[in-house]
Amino acid sequence: MSFNSLGLSQALLKAISKKGYTTPSPIQEKAIPLILEGYDVLASAQTGTGKTAGFTLPLLHVLSENPKEKFRPIRALILTPTRELAAQVYANVKEYSEFLDLRSAVIFGGVNQKPQAATIRQGIDVLVATPGRLLDLQNQGLLSLKRVEILVLDEADRMLDMGFLRDIERIIKMMPTKRQNLMFSATFSHDIKKLAQGILREPVMVEATPENSTVDAINQKIYRVSKGKKSGLAIKLISDGNWKQVLMFTRTKHGANKLCKNLVSANISSAAIHGNKSQAARTKALAGFKSGDVRVLVATDIAARGLDIPLLPHVINFEIPNIPEDYVHRIGRTGRAGASGEAISLVSADETSYLKDIEKLLGFRIESDIMEGFEPDPNAPTEPEKRQQRQGRNSSKNHTNSRSSGGNNSRRRQNNKRRG
Ligand code: AMP
Repeated sequence: MSFNSLGLSQALLKAISKKGYTTPSPIQEKAIPLILEGYDVLASAQTGTGKTAGFTLPLLHVLSENPKEKFRPIRALILTPTRELAAQVYANVKEYSEFLDLRSAVIFGGVNQKPQAATIRQGIDVLVATPGRLLDLQNQGLLSLKRVEILVLDEADRMLDMGFLRDIERIIKMMPTKRQNLMFSATFSHDIKKLAQGILREPVMVEATPENSTVDAINQKIYRVSKGKKSGLAIKLISDGNWKQVLMFTRTKHGANKLCKNLVSANISSAAIHGNKSQAARTKALAGFKSGDVRVLVATDIAARGLDIPLLPHVINFEIPNIPEDYVHRIGRTGRAGASGEAISLVSADETSYLKDIEKLLGFRIESDIMEGFEPDPNAPTEPEKRQQRQGRNSSKNHTNSRSSGGNNSRRRQNNKRRG
């Protein structure tokens, strides 16, 4: 299938061709015609599936077809959970609308609001925003959502994980009830379905390629290792393999900082990206990583969510996640755009139950090995960290991932069938 048959305007096809895309991804093929027809869409798609173009292209088409007014009210609102994702989505909006008479802006916290407010005052058609800053500006009377025709909730599951439910509900009330709603989420928990029921009207459900097919294309391996030797093993793997671009995951912000320090001490240029870092520091780390100046980007799950880093050859799970779906999201970053990748997990004894949950979700056991000199500690506790913490053995302030492991572990991707 080619983009020409999806019903998009010539101006959009020109922008697509300029980006170098030749064929629509599965989510684009399914979602674009439905959105053009005016349906509410509930899409199951994670980063790397081409979901951003999947909603941005038809959204821009619809807006450019509808009559514009001299003073431009915000007609499309795209909500994202993180600043990075907002910036990336906005960059996409700018690129795809290059040949259209549409204006857009992005707003998020952590930076001065004045330039953002000034851009909005001049009149824009599309606003990309994180919920907090959007509400801030709205409360100050600096923007109005009364003319919104299309609402996109991008990475809705992560928005709920980050506690944005109340904010979303408040934002919804500021918009006209008659509007088109598009919701994208990697997972479909009970909470997501409830949110969708409250927002979408008779949505058509679409699904990107099932996650397992992505997972199959990725070379996965586990090294069983003692906790204290993980840094040494990571340094050995990166140095011996002469890996130039590695994304590493930790469960906590504290762990990310510590690992970053250890890597830098071993002369491996690294940067950490997590919620405690300023926006400027995060942008700098990401830019350095993309340009090749930073060899290792250490990230927590929430910070990494939505990062657009194409063709990543190596992912190392320095600590495996306590939410099995996060494992799939993490390693999915290596198998993008058809390129094969390698995902290595360093697993200590206390992570055994997390690993079991992950393997249960995958439906197979991941190949496991031990590196000489980095053997696991036979006397280490096999209890997960969280359980250890509850027993008072660890300090809770090191653990910033507030999501409970128990409730979320049962979250599974739901096989939604496309209707209509
Ligand atoms: P996303 O899932 O929206 O984060 O997109 C992941 C990556 O795929 C981005 O780098 C996009 O620029 C790229 N992309 C999106 N659609 C296509 C397409 N049809 N063909 C090739 N690359 C694409």
